[in-house]
Parts: sequence; structure tokens; C-alpha cells
Amino acid sequence: MGHLFVPGPVDVNEEVLAAQAQAMMPHRSDKFEEIFDRVSKGASKLFLTEHRVFITASSGTGLHEAAVRNLANESVLSCVNGAFAKRWHDVALSNGKKVDLLETGWDQPITPEIVSQALDGKNYEIIILVHNETSTGLVNPIKEIAAAVHEASPETLICIDAVSSLTGDRVEMDNWGLDMVLTSSQKALALPPGLGFAAVNDRAMARAETVDNRGWYFDFLRLEKHRIKDSTPATPAISLIYALDLQLRRIFEEGLDARFARHAAMAERVQTWALERKLALFAPEGYRSKTVTTIDNQLEIDVVELNAFLQEREMRIANGYGPLKNKTFRIGHMGELQLADIDELLLVMDEFLAR
Ligand code: PLP
Repeated sequence: MGHLFVPGPVDVNEEVLAAQAQAMMPHRSDKFEEIFDRVSKGASKLFLTEHRVFITASSGTGLHEAAVRNLANESVLSCVNGAFAKRWHDVALSNGKKVDLLETGWDQPITPEIVSQALDGKNYEIIILVHNETSTGLVNPIKEIAAAVHEASPETLICIDAVSSLTGDRVEMDNWGLDMVLTSSQKALALPPGLGFAAVNDRAMARAETVDNRGWYFDFLRLEKHRIKDSTPATPAISLIYALDLQLRRIFEEGLDARFARHAAMAERVQTWALERKLALFAPEGYRSKTVTTIDNQLEIDVVELNAFLQEREMRIANGYGPLKNKTFRIGHMGELQLADIDELLLVMDEFLAR
């Protein structure tokens, strides 16, 4: 069977796909509420939090909007070193917030030092930043940044995009003191696209009570009112919830630590291979992603041709994203993929490079 080595949507296990085909049931029913209760509790474990997780019928970008709408009346510090952080910045602006931009080069991490400087003498309601930048394959040091925020500006809520890292790399919401962490279903969780997950702590819920114009669909207070009754304000994506129920069971069978280790091993294999082929990695050492590797295309490989070659073998990688298109290419190593799949891909990549 072929594989998608792209950073989402990724391969979904066949039984998980099939779980979606179960018959519908009313969502206002004991049976569905029992499933929703189970998946909600399971979702909290993925974020390593004791707090609630809202499961929404949306992709992750919807929760970018939820973060800025619910947690800030006005002031946002937005940290940008990649395309998805830039998107969150644009989302904040388009919701009328006053947004200050803290930007580094896309090949450089956001560091605790520059965050401390940006917070000095300011009183931002929230700071937004991306853990694992899917465009660049760069991981920002969230644990250390969070410690810097707690020190410099304890009232500022920390909102993290873990879209392409959750369950592929460690994100410890409670231990690191993160107030909101969001993700999507179609990345390391290895589900079809269409579910958003927002883990929100009590401090963030208290803030939401003080914020005007939170909107309707993603209003945390409305979501909470229904969540405590194992329900949602609007119709949930029932088929995807069936799939999530099974996938959570599979994830816990593997074990979160084993899952992190498998992703780390795949990242190591891809990154070592690239360096051995004298291909440069876009992200600096120490900040390289466990779920996606962005490789500088200094050999000027025709990425379209490479993908056509791979697709003859039912494999696919991803071109660079946005301004990095053709200048880089990306290998996704997340979700259901195993080391043996990575080895198979790299053999075919070698075959292409040797032509
Ligand atoms: N944030 C990151 C880091 C992403 O990689 C993506 C999508 O690739 C998004 C946000 C947007 O998520 P979605 O496509 O689920 O809206």
C-alpha cells in the first residue's frame, strides 16, 4: 500500500475510515452523549491536561479565530516565524484586534529572550504562537517561552497552535502552564480532516467571561454549557466522532510515549538521510520538527517531477509552502507511518536522485 508523506491530511487507518460509515444517531441521545463523553475525556489526555477540550466541527483555523475572539478584548502579541503563524496573525487582525507583531526570520526560532523583551512594560491579553511550524519544519521552544511569559507578564494568556505536533511531539499543557492549545484532526492524530480540538483551562474560561463579542459558533461559554452535558451547541460531525472514538483507543494502545518515540525516530531517519545526501535542512539544529522535515532544494530538484516519480509507487511528498514553494520540499513523517515506510520512501528518493 502506498503512503502520504505529506504534512496532512495524512493516511488514515482502514478501520478508522470504516468507523465513519456507521449509522447516524441523534446527537441529543444517551447513546451519542456516552460516546462524546468518552472522546472528550480521551482528548484531554492527548493534551496532558486536566482541563476541558472542546471538539468542534471545523478545521484548526476555526480555533485560531476562537482564541482571539474569546480571550482578547483588544491586545494580542503575535509571534510569527512561518506561514501558519502568519495566518493566525491575519485572523487576529481580521477580527479587529490590536495586534503587535514579533517576527523572526522563518529559519529562526522564537526564543524566550525576544518574547521577554516584547512583553516588557506591556500588558497583552494573549500571546499567540505556533509550536510546530508546518511550513518550515521548525519547532519553537514552547516550554521555555511559556516560562518567560509567566515571569514577564503573568496575566497574559498563552495560546498555542499544536496543529501539526499534537501526539507526534510532546505538548504538556498543564505542566508548561499553557492556557489554550489547539489542534486539527488531519495531522499527527491521523484522522480525516474536519475536527478541531481546543484545550482551554479555567483561567482562560474566566477571561472569556470578560470578553465582548465572542461570536456564536466558537463561543467558549456556550460550548462549555453544552460540553458539561456531553453535547455541542450545534450538530457535531458524528461520523468523525465515531472515527475519533476508535482512533483514541488505538493511540492509547500504542501509548503516548511510544508514539512520541516513533515520531522522533522517523524524524531522525529523514534528517540524517538528508544531511548524508548533502541536502541542507531549513530549520536549525535543536529546533527541528518531529513530524515534518523541510529540506532546502539547493540541488534544484524538480519537485513536481519527483512527486510524479513517487506517485508511480503510490507515494507522495509535499512541495514547499507559500514563498518556500520549489525552494524547499517537505517530507511528512506523522500519524500512522512507521520507520519501515520511511525507509521505503528514502530508497525511492535515492533512486530518483541517482537518475
Ligand atoms: N497551523 C498549522 C501549524 C498548520 O500546519 C495548519 C495546516 O496545515 C493550520 C494551522 C491550519 O489548520 P487547518 O487546515 O486544520 O485549518
